[in-house]
Amino acid sequence: MRWFGEKWDASICNEERVDVPVGSPCGGCQNPIKENDQGLMVTQIIRWEGDNAICREVPHHRNCFVAKLSYEASKLFDKMFPSKKEKKK
Ligand SMILES: [Zn+2]
Repeated sequence: MRWFGEKWDASICNEERVDVPVGSPCGGCQNPIKENDQGLMVTQIIRWEGDNAICREVPHHRNCFVAKLSYEASKLFDKMFPSKKEKKK
């Protein structure tokens, strides 16, 4: 996965670095990416044309990507352990 911004302490930063996509909306919070932001380019399927997935790289802030991952993980967790009761407050 490609990334942008200041290098941080993660193995992802051994991958290819790209220019900061200033002005592009973040795939997490939808706020435009700013010059000093750090983040990742996440390949997402935007639509299907027959059997072909049309993909696009969507910039995500570092934190938004982590938040998305933990959200996905919690959904998966709920699926794997359906008896888990959700606590409300
Ligand atoms: Zn964001």
